[in-house]
Amino acid sequence: MTQSLGELESIVRKKICMLCTERTADGECGLEEPTGCALFRLFPQVALAIQSVQSDDVGPYIEAIRRNVCSVCNEQAPDGSCETRQMVQCALDAYLLLVVDAIEEATGKTFDKRRIGLAGGSTVSLGPQIQL
Ligand code: SF4
Ligand code: SF4
Repeated sequence: MTQSLGELESIVRKKICMLCTERTADGECGLEEPTGCALFRLFPQVALAIQSVQSDDVGPYIEAIRRNVCSVCNEQAPDGSCETRQMVQCALDAYLLLVVDAIEEATGKTFDKRRIGLAGGSTVSLGPQIQL
């Protein structure tokens, strides 16, 4: 990737936090513990997982996130389930398609948005993306 990890994180923060339902009116993260947001707490792993995939299908990205991020996340239960995900409170999971799109765009990779419903004007369905 051409950007540093810090630069990439800034780009993703700008795009995802601004539409995240946890964001407060004054633009801050409304989580009780903002550092607990899995998307940024595990951002190095997130970026590496997404960069390791070359696909226009979202499935391999989901698998890479499960394998490389959820597996080291302290929110995941021993049986592979995740209550935070089930409650749609994991920003990484809820906004996964947009996170992938932001990272792909920032790193100059082409991603066929039509395959995942992100083409201009289409509705993005937010919700648990990672089926364990
Ligand atoms: S929960 Fe995560 S994505 Fe949402 S505003 Fe907070 S830091 Fe940003
Ligand atoms: S879905 Fe759960 S286990 Fe995976 S990153 Fe989010 S909080 Fe962690």
